[in-house]
Order: sequence, then structure tokens, then C-alpha cells
Amino acid sequence: MNLTNIGTVKDILSRHGFSFSKGLGQNFIINPDICPRIAENGNAKEGYGVLEIGTGIGVLTAELAKRADKVAAVEIDTRLLPILDETLEEFDNVKIFNEDVMKCDLNKIIKEEFNGLRAAVCANLPYYITSPVIMLLLESRLPIDSITVMVQKEAAQRLCAKVGSRESGAITVGINYYGTVKSLFNVSRGSFMPAPNVDSAVIRIDINHDRLLDEEEEKFFFKMVKYGFSQRRKTIANALSSQLGLKKDDIYSALTSCGLPEAARIEQLDMQQLISLSRMLMNR
Ligand code: SAM
Repeated sequence: MNLTNIGTVKDILSRHGFSFSKGLGQNFIINPDICPRIAENGNAKEGYGVLEIGTGIGVLTAELAKRADKVAAVEIDTRLLPILDETLEEFDNVKIFNEDVMKCDLNKIIKEEFNGLRAAVCANLPYYITSPVIMLLLESRLPIDSITVMVQKEAAQRLCAKVGSRESGAITVGINYYGTVKSLFNVSRGSFMPAPNVDSAVIRIDINHDRLLDEEEEKFFFKMVKYGFSQRRKTIANALSSQLGLKKDDIYSALTSCGLPEAARIEQLDMQQLISLSRMLMNR
């Protein structure tokens, strides 16, 4: 079935009485070039199981299933299940989980569905939960090689920003802590049905499974990053003293020990400086 043919898609949707949910970020891909490119850049190949988040009517799911050994896909919208039965009928290597990605046990799905295979995540993410989903995937320490996702172009700029630049945010630090990120290609708004108001971009995060900090240090690090970026225009000392319950003088001395000025702001620090500062502050 050609799921990028507008006539075919309209026919399936109307036969099932389906109407798009804006709240669930339902913009389905109708440009035939996009899904094969996501799949090919996203480790959908022999020896791999691919976890997809948000199937829609299965246009990307099908391209993943053609290339990977197994596809496990999480889709929250129950109305899509009978449609997927039809659109993915020819594939016997796809399993759909009718669940909320934020609430389901992704480690369990990967373990049970991809037994012995390498694993990767591919998705055209619902835009309303882009950052939470990416952070969840990273923090869950899934045994995956990569996360290849389509996001809104503005989100891609933040996700791919350099740590220590004005464009960076807590999510940028999170991504660079767990891996390395690359912007792959842009996708125009006309590639979707219905067309959103903004363009999109596909990015890939390659996961680094080495642990930079131990568990306790890691918790403190992300608390520092979250609080710091929630008041990013303030100095680190002003932003963190009340939130972390630290004396300003202790923060100044930690900054000095890291070779940083007392007036430093969190968005000015690179990854190594953030890690050193977090270690210093944790011991105060
Ligand atoms: N992959 C399809 C495509 O590219 O055409 C659909 C992508 S659409 C941008 C996002 C999909 O994610 C929708 O099918 C939507 O129902 C689903 N979705 C939204 N929130 C979700 C959640 N919390 N958990 C799982 N799926 C969700």
C-alpha cells in the first residue's frame, strides 16, 4: 500500500472515520522521500530492532519494517489500531503497543521484542513532547545505538546547539552528556498532512554508553543544569544558591576553583566546565 499517495491516505482515513488530533501532534508524512531517508540514517537494517514512537497510519513504520529485523512501535491513539491492521498487513515483524510513550516501560519492550538484536529509535515525534521524550529516552539508558527523530526546525536548532552557546538549553546539555548529536536534513511543512505552520528537521543522536559521572553525581549534575537554565540570564551564584540551598560564597569559591569568573552564567559553560563545577558544588 502506498502510504504517501494522498488519495490512498484520504480513502483509508475516511473509511475509518478518522479525524486528525491537533493535541496529539498528528501531522503525517506524505512526502515519499522522507521515511526511507529516516530509516536509512537511523540504523533500520539487518541485525537491528527499531523502536518507533507514534506510528500515525504507519508510513515510517513500513519503511522501518522493510529494513530492520523487528519493529516495536508505541502509539497512544487507539483509533489508529484498525487502520494500522490494514496498512501494515504485509509485515509480520511489527508489533504495536497502544500506550503513552511517557508511561510505558521502554526497556522491557526492547528486551522482550529485540532479543539479541542491536537496537535503535526512529520517529517523527509529536511536537508537544519533543524534549520530554528525548530526555526520557536518554535517561532510561536504553540499550540503543542511536535516536533518529524528526522535530520542528526551531527545536532542532536548540537540540543541536553547542553547549556553552546562547542557543543551548538544559536539553542540549542532556544530549551532549549522553551522546553526540548531528542535524541530518530539513523537511518542508508541505511534506505533511495536515501541513503544520513550521518546517521540520531530522536529527540523529549517537549514544555514548560510557558513564561520565556516577549515579549520585549524575543526579546532582542534572539538578544543577535544570535550575541553572531555568534562570539562565542570572549568574550561576544567583540562580543556584536558593535552589540548591548553597551559600553564595561557596558557589563563588567553586567557580574560582574551576577557573571560572564569579559572574559566570550557566549558558557560558562548556560540557567539561559544567561537569567540574557540578563536582565542586556537590562537595560543598
Ligand atoms: N510516524 C507518523 C508519520 O510520520 O506520519 C506519525 C507522526 S505524528 C507527528 C506523531 C504520532 O505520535 C501521532 O500518531 C500521535 O498519535 C502519536 N502520539 C502522540 N502522543 C503520543 C504519546 N504520548 N505516546 C505515543 N504516541 C503518541
